[in-house]
Amino acid sequence: MIGGGIGGVATALALHREGFYPVVYERVKELKEVGAGIALWANATHVLKNLDLLEEAKEVGVITTNYQFNSQNGKELVNVPVNGFELPTIGIHRADLHELLWRRLPEKQFILGETFERFSLSENRVCAHFTSGLMVEGDAFIGADGLRSKVRSELFGEQPPIYRNFTTWRGLTNHVPDTYHPGYIREFLGRGKGFGFMMLGKGRMYWYAAALAPENQADAPIGRKKELENMFQDWFDSIPELIAATDETDIIKTDLYDRVPALPWSKQNITLLGDAAHPTLPTLGQGACMALEDALVVTKCLLEYSSPATAFQNYESQRFSRTKSIVEQSLRSGRMGQLAHPITVKLRETLMKLMKPAIANSFKTIHAYRA
Ligand SMILES: Cc1cc2nc3c(=O)[nH]c(=O)nc-3n(C[C@H](O)[C@H](O)[C@H](O)COP(=O)(O)OP(=O)(O)OC[C@H]3O[C@@H](n4cnc5c(N)ncnc54)[C@H](O)[C@@H]3O)c2cc1C
Repeated sequence: MIGGGIGGVATALALHREGFYPVVYERVKELKEVGAGIALWANATHVLKNLDLLEEAKEVGVITTNYQFNSQNGKELVNVPVNGFELPTIGIHRADLHELLWRRLPEKQFILGETFERFSLSENRVCAHFTSGLMVEGDAFIGADGLRSKVRSELFGEQPPIYRNFTTWRGLTNHVPDTYHPGYIREFLGRGKGFGFMMLGKGRMYWYAAALAPENQADAPIGRKKELENMFQDWFDSIPELIAATDETDIIKTDLYDRVPALPWSKQNITLLGDAAHPTLPTLGQGACMALEDALVVTKCLLEYSSPATAFQNYESQRFSRTKSIVEQSLRSGRMGQLAHPITVKLRETLMKLMKPAIANSFKTIHAYRA
């Protein structure tokens, strides 16, 4: 396994539980997932249940019941219940989820500080080379090395991901606004900007903001926090309150990218998984959830077919249409969120209210999937 993010460690754990001997090679020397939250919908908590981690995830996270969309001043547009399944939706800190997964792996199977560089292929054997000089031969390789996957560019050539004209800020604070509804993800849509917040476990509140911006835009000279306070000063009261309650050092800024969905993901006994295979905009909060689904499916295929190359062909054909549809839907909702003209924003608000059943249905379809 190249890459020990959520996708890589979940896959290694799923394989380990089935008697395989996966080894994860991760480039960072020390594990520190970014200080941000993640929503694990029923399609992802199904994977945790299969890995016997659901109860612990419920303990360190928080049960989420509703996804509510609002106008920028807090008028409800659509309120989608997300608790109608046999499995819960959980708001969880990324580091807590990551730790639940890697702690279950034997230490010697999770190697830190190794950066993958290239493969050498001969006959049926593949050897992975790392920048340290380490060389590893294996029966199969999985590139779970994220958005700018080196495994992907080694297999299929350099193709940069596509910047979608949106940048995001993510923050974490212990401050819980008085207006907070327990169990709610509250999202606010304005002119070319959006804001959302949800509770994670351990009393922490996670918020995210998004805005149209050129790629790699530097922070304003007034600083990241002040810039956000100015951007959202006249929005729903809890929003400037949450920004003000967050330390500037706890605010992460990330430009948003995806790729046009395309196969193949595999060559011989090497395949891709998670963001390396199908990076998506986070508008539906499904990137890590899809990586978890991949983990189960690739494990089932490796159990079913003794040849890794055949297993990977089956894995990618089972996963492609599901991931393609989510990447495309995420891009469409991203574009809706980018509308900036006052008239189109008003139209969007009217349309969202009218389309409430369709919006609820599309969430339901995505969350109903069981890997
Ligand atoms: C703003 C934002 C909000 C999001 N919100 C959500 C959400 O609510 N729900 C959700 O499901 N998803 C969400 N996502 C998406 C989610 O973060 C990703 O889809 C998920 O982290 C992908 O996991 P991964 O393991 O495939 O890749 P990554 O998490 O990127 O992990 C890749 C790993 O590979 C390592 N690596 C990279 N190159 C090498 C190399 N050459 N050698 C060795 N190791 C290497 C990296 O260090 C890293 O640890 C969000 C994303 C963003 C940007």
